[in-house]
Amino acid sequence: AAWITEFVTATEQGHRAPMAAGKHTDRFGGQLVLVTGAAGGIGRATALAFAEAGARVVAVDVDAEGAARTAESSRRAGAPEAWAETVDVSDEQAMEKLAERVATEYGVIDVLVNNAGIGLSGAFLDTTFEDWRKVLDVNLWGVIHGCRLFGRQMAERGQGGHIVNIASAAAYLPSRSLPAYSTSKAAVLMLSECLRAELAGRKIGVSAICPGIVNTGITSTARFAGVDAEEEKRRQRRTAKLYGLRNYPPEKVAEAVLRAVVRDQAVVPVTPEARGGRLMSRFAPRA
Ligand code: NAD
Repeated sequence: AAWITEFVTATEQGHRAPMAAGKHTDRFGGQLVLVTGAAGGIGRATALAFAEAGARVVAVDVDAEGAARTAESSRRAGAPEAWAETVDVSDEQAMEKLAERVATEYGVIDVLVNNAGIGLSGAFLDTTFEDWRKVLDVNLWGVIHGCRLFGRQMAERGQGGHIVNIASAAAYLPSRSLPAYSTSKAAVLMLSECLRAELAGRKIGVSAICPGIVNTGITSTARFAGVDAEEEKRRQRRTAKLYGLRNYPPEKVAEAVLRAVVRDQAVVPVTPEARGGRLMSRFAPRA
């Protein structure tokens, strides 16, 4: 695949390449990778891409069956070992238990992908405190728990590692329709950059991936504040149609994740609207 060739080029150009050299298809051989929100969409595609590259995979999701399916597919895709863990990333105690279990049973994580997230649309004045809490609990606190617990394990082991946070282009493209979601993602972006500066001395890389519109199931589960259930369903269908028309596949975001780890990239906009064009905000960070 093209991105594997790019790995080699990146290495030759002298980017930090924390992974042991090996066969291209085995680029992540021997590495332990944990992906949250791995049951579907970008998380599933990312878990499978790491599996294809030879990594051992821990697939975490609230959706137990979906996580189990991803673990099974990861084994078929080439992961020497893969496990499913049913955990809500916003649940601090459940995440602490997960971190302990993973360290005892599978080992210290080499690559953590904080991907689990939920969508929420609606004007600021229509957004309830409950909506705010839910979206910040999952999208921001979920990432904080992951970074704290697994980042500490990586730091204590002293052999480096990498943390990838799935933010969004919404983190730097202001809009009227996504105030809560965008705020959660802007916080994830800033957290990633601060953490990157802090952990650099410990050889732990931190990347923030900022996708624009990606064709995943998030369109059918995203909440719409300030409308009744019927209108919400209608808007979900409309969004799904729009995302389908763009048809940017989650597999391409997964490629960007693997590339970000190998090249140690700080902020990675993915999809045309995230990279520039009409929507580009003057605040947009450069890759
Ligand atoms: P998705 O709905 O297909 O997948 C999200 C996964 O996260 C699901 O499997 C879901 O069960 C899981 N999840 C939700 N809440 C959870 C929780 N509390 N604990 C554990 N797992 C949980 O959506 P996706 O599009 O693949 O989204 C993945 C990430 O990408 C999200 O953070 C999302 O905000 C981000 N993103 C998506 C797009 C897009 O256009 N699809 C754009 C930018 C960013």
